[in-house]
Amino acid sequence: MKNKSILNTVSKVMTKLALGAFMVQVPIFSSTLLNSLSPKGENIRDKIHLEKLLKQEKKKLGIENKNINAYFCNTIETSGARKINENSYEIFLAKDQRAFNVLRHELYHVADGHCDKGYELFNNGRKFEKTIRYLLINEPKASIYGATGLKL
Ligand SMILES: [Zn+2]
Repeated sequence: MKNKSILNTVSKVMTKLALGAFMVQVPIFSSTLLNSLSPKGENIRDKIHLEKLLKQEKKKLGIENKNINAYFCNTIETSGARKINENSYEIFLAKDQRAFNVLRHELYHVADGHCDKGYELFNNGRKFEKTIRYLLINEPKASIYGATGLKL
Protein backbone atom coordinates (compact mmCIF):
# COMPACT_ATOMS: atom_id res chain seq x y z
CA MET A 1 0.00 0.00 0.00
CA LYS A 2 2.78 2.39 0.91
CA ASN A 3 4.55 1.80 -2.39
CA LYS A 4 1.32 2.44 -4.21
CA SER A 5 0.79 5.81 -2.50
CA ILE A 6 4.38 6.80 -3.25
CA LEU A 7 3.78 5.82 -6.84
CA ASN A 8 0.59 7.90 -6.87
CA THR A 9 2.41 10.92 -5.49
CA VAL A 10 5.24 10.49 -7.99
CA SER A 11 2.71 10.16 -10.78
CA LYS A 12 0.88 13.33 -9.67
CA VAL A 13 4.14 15.26 -9.44
CA MET A 14 5.21 14.01 -12.87
CA THR A 15 1.87 15.05 -14.36
CA LYS A 16 2.20 18.53 -12.86
CA LEU A 17 5.77 18.83 -14.13
CA ALA A 18 4.77 17.72 -17.61
CA LEU A 19 1.85 20.13 -17.62
CA GLY A 20 4.08 22.93 -16.33
CA ALA A 21 6.69 22.21 -19.00
CA PHE A 22 3.96 22.20 -21.63
CA MET A 23 2.51 25.50 -20.41
CA VAL A 24 5.96 27.06 -20.53
CA GLN A 25 6.88 25.57 -23.89
CA VAL A 26 3.78 26.73 -25.75
CA PRO A 27 4.26 30.49 -25.17
CA ILE A 28 8.02 30.22 -25.79
CA PHE A 29 7.35 28.41 -29.02
CA SER A 30 4.58 30.78 -30.10
CA SER A 31 6.55 33.88 -29.26
CA THR A 32 9.61 32.52 -31.08
CA LEU A 33 7.40 31.58 -34.00
CA LEU A 34 5.71 34.99 -33.95
CA ASN A 35 9.12 36.69 -33.90
CA SER A 36 10.47 34.63 -36.76
CA LEU A 37 7.32 34.81 -38.88
CA SER A 38 6.41 38.41 -38.27
CA PRO A 39 7.71 40.76 -40.90
CA LYS A 40 10.54 42.89 -39.57
CA GLY A 41 8.98 45.85 -41.29
CA GLU A 42 10.76 48.75 -42.87
CA ASN A 43 14.55 48.58 -42.76
CA ILE A 44 16.26 51.25 -40.74
CA ARG A 45 18.77 52.82 -43.09
CA ASP A 46 21.09 54.74 -40.79
CA LYS A 47 21.44 56.55 -37.47
CA ILE A 48 19.39 59.54 -38.68
CA HIS A 49 16.56 57.27 -39.74
CA LEU A 50 16.81 55.43 -36.43
CA GLU A 51 16.56 58.69 -34.46
CA LYS A 52 13.54 59.78 -36.48
CA LEU A 53 11.70 56.48 -35.89
CA LEU A 54 12.69 56.47 -32.22
CA LYS A 55 11.19 59.93 -31.68
CA GLN A 56 8.02 59.01 -33.55
CA GLU A 57 7.52 55.70 -31.71
CA LYS A 58 8.30 57.15 -28.26
CA LYS A 59 5.46 59.59 -28.87
CA LYS A 60 3.06 56.78 -29.84
CA LEU A 61 3.91 54.91 -26.64
CA GLY A 62 3.75 58.06 -24.51
CA ILE A 63 7.33 57.72 -23.29
CA GLU A 64 8.82 60.95 -24.65
CA ASN A 65 10.06 61.74 -21.12
CA LYS A 66 12.37 58.71 -21.09
CA ASN A 67 15.95 59.08 -22.30
CA ILE A 68 16.57 56.31 -24.76
CA ASN A 69 19.81 55.83 -26.62
CA ALA A 70 19.26 53.55 -29.59
CA TYR A 71 22.13 52.27 -31.67
CA PHE A 72 23.21 49.57 -34.08
CA CYS A 73 25.46 46.86 -32.72
CA ASN A 74 27.27 44.53 -35.11
CA THR A 75 28.82 42.31 -32.48
CA ILE A 76 25.60 40.84 -31.10
CA GLU A 77 23.11 38.33 -32.49
CA THR A 78 19.99 39.47 -30.67
CA SER A 79 18.63 42.94 -30.14
CA GLY A 80 17.72 44.11 -26.68
CA ALA A 81 16.77 46.90 -24.30
CA ARG A 82 18.03 47.68 -20.83
CA LYS A 83 17.97 50.33 -18.19
CA ILE A 84 21.29 52.07 -17.70
CA ASN A 85 20.33 54.76 -15.21
CA GLU A 86 17.35 56.44 -13.61
CA ASN A 87 15.01 57.20 -16.54
CA SER A 88 17.74 56.26 -19.03
CA TYR A 89 17.65 53.24 -21.27
CA GLU A 90 19.48 51.85 -24.24
CA ILE A 91 18.25 49.85 -27.16
CA PHE A 92 20.70 47.96 -29.30
CA LEU A 93 19.76 46.55 -32.67
CA ALA A 94 21.68 43.53 -33.89
CA LYS A 95 23.26 43.32 -37.32
CA ASP A 96 20.40 41.52 -39.08
CA GLN A 97 17.67 43.21 -37.07
CA ARG A 98 17.89 46.83 -38.16
CA ALA A 99 14.17 47.05 -38.68
CA PHE A 100 11.17 49.05 -37.59
CA ASN A 101 9.32 46.18 -35.88
CA VAL A 102 12.41 45.18 -33.92
CA LEU A 103 12.79 48.76 -32.68
CA ARG A 104 9.10 48.81 -31.76
CA HIS A 105 9.45 45.47 -29.93
CA GLU A 106 12.35 46.78 -27.84
CA LEU A 107 10.61 50.10 -27.17
CA TYR A 108 7.63 48.22 -25.84
CA HIS A 109 9.87 46.50 -23.28
CA VAL A 110 10.92 49.97 -22.06
CA ALA A 111 7.39 51.43 -22.16
CA ASP A 112 5.81 48.53 -20.28
CA GLY A 113 8.48 48.65 -17.57
CA HIS A 114 10.12 45.34 -18.41
CA CYS A 115 13.56 46.87 -17.92
CA ASP A 116 12.72 48.49 -14.58
CA LYS A 117 13.30 47.38 -11.04
CA GLY A 118 11.54 44.17 -10.13
CA TYR A 119 11.13 43.29 -13.79
CA GLU A 120 14.69 43.20 -14.97
CA LEU A 121 15.76 39.75 -15.96
CA PHE A 122 19.45 39.84 -15.32
CA ASN A 123 19.66 41.11 -11.75
CA ASN A 124 20.02 38.85 -8.77
CA GLY A 125 17.13 37.24 -6.95
CA ARG A 126 14.00 35.42 -8.04
CA LYS A 127 15.66 34.67 -11.33
CA PHE A 128 13.43 31.70 -12.13
CA GLU A 129 10.24 33.69 -11.50
CA LYS A 130 11.52 36.57 -13.61
CA THR A 131 12.51 34.25 -16.41
CA ILE A 132 9.06 32.68 -16.44
CA ARG A 133 7.35 36.08 -16.39
CA TYR A 134 9.61 37.25 -19.17
CA LEU A 135 8.88 34.24 -21.35
CA LEU A 136 5.17 33.97 -20.63
CA ILE A 137 4.15 37.62 -20.42
CA ASN A 138 6.73 40.24 -21.34
CA GLU A 139 8.15 38.67 -24.47
CA PRO A 140 4.82 37.68 -26.06
CA LYS A 141 3.42 41.19 -25.35
CA ALA A 142 6.47 42.86 -26.90
CA SER A 143 6.34 40.49 -29.87
CA ILE A 144 2.70 41.27 -30.54
CA TYR A 145 3.30 45.01 -30.23
CA GLY A 146 6.39 44.79 -32.45
CA ALA A 147 4.50 42.96 -35.16
CA THR A 148 1.14 44.71 -35.00
CA GLY A 149 1.35 47.87 -32.90
CA LEU A 150 -1.31 46.52 -30.54
CA LYS A 151 -0.77 47.33 -26.86
CA LEU A 152 -1.90 44.52 -24.58
ZN1 LIG B 1 11.86 40.98 -26.39
